Amino acid sequence: SLTIGIVGLPNVGKSTLFNALTKNDVLAANYPFATIEPNVGVVGVPDPRLARLAEVFGSQKIIPATVSFVDIAGIVRGASEGQGLGNKFLANIRESDAICQVIRVFTDPDVVHVEGKVDPADDIETINTELVLADMQTLEKAIPRLEKESRKDKDRKVLHDAAVAAQEVLNTGKTLFAAGVDPEPLRELTLLTTKPFLYVFNVDADELANTAQLDELRALVAPAEAIFLDAQTESELIELPAEEAAELLASIGQDEPGLDQLAQVGFRTLGLQTYLTAGPKESRAWTIPVGATAPEAAGVIHTDFQRGFIKAEIVGFDQLMEAGSMAAAKTKGWVRIEGKEYVMQDGDVVEFRFNV
Ligand code: GDP
Repeated sequence: SLTIGIVGLPNVGKSTLFNALTKNDVLAANYPFATIEPNVGVVGVPDPRLARLAEVFGSQKIIPATVSFVDIAGIVRGASEGQGLGNKFLANIRESDAICQVIRVFTDPDVVHVEGKVDPADDIETINTELVLADMQTLEKAIPRLEKESRKDKDRKVLHDAAVAAQEVLNTGKTLFAAGVDPEPLRELTLLTTKPFLYVFNVDADELANTAQLDELRALVAPAEAIFLDAQTESELIELPAEEAAELLASIGQDEPGLDQLAQVGFRTLGLQTYLTAGPKESRAWTIPVGATAPEAAGVIHTDFQRGFIKAEIVGFDQLMEAGSMAAAKTKGWVRIEGKEYVMQDGDVVEFRFNV
């Protein structure tokens, strides 16, 4: 499954955030015998629609979609030259499908900042520079080889030209993601900066309501998505019973934990969406790539469902709730029959028909 690598300079709150994430680990909660990698946190993607479906269908269980985070320790200035844990660090990022940078905004004289001062723009720049330099090295090695190959084989010219164009972008200091470069033709080179980025700003709890400051930070990373949270508070929230957690959240002016937002935004950043199924046993969100067709969606439940796909009976979540039950939705003519070409939409509640 797809993973998001968590990166950031030392002492920005990565471990604090990651530990909070792993306390939320749905593998640990639901699959007691699953092998849990120490540096991977699998968290549920909160979806309030599931509880409402469970009510309508009398489901015994709710199973949310999940998103996996990998803790990638060790970036410092000079990582692209093998400083610190440089090479291992870069290899770990290469294996991730998206990059989540944690940035320190909180002020705490007791926590040393590696660069001597809290400066979010500078920290973003430091990490970007290491990743850009690593990609430039990859391209410098690849381009002469691709040039030779493309003289004999026209197909290789597509990759060669994309590589040269990417090199020009990187020379300006921009990541390929920020420049909007299409990752597809470059895929073979497993570049780092074509991956989608998202940003977690670790701010003091009492700054979470300072919208002027948050807007300034958001502008630093746009069009990438930004999440604002206080890692320390998040790690406390996770230990509290629901009622006390709600009180603590309210006391810092928030209506949902930052970790929930992170799971939702991370899921979206990976290019994923869900569709829903419901019955007396469970209400469940299934993960598909944006743009998946009905048979592909069926295949996520079971490969036989995809192979034997006949049709999908689909009703939009909001219409289903308005009707009050599947039977009522059918009577109203709101349950559509969709075929092989149908592209799944967010909020589709689905029953597949298939041959076995
Ligand atoms: P990492 O090196 O990026 O993994 O950072 P850690 O999570 O180990 O945090 C470094 C130090 O900063 C620890 O002493 C944390 O308790 C502290 N810290 C982490 N997040 C926050 C925060 O949101 N506010 C404050 N004041 N301290 C924090």
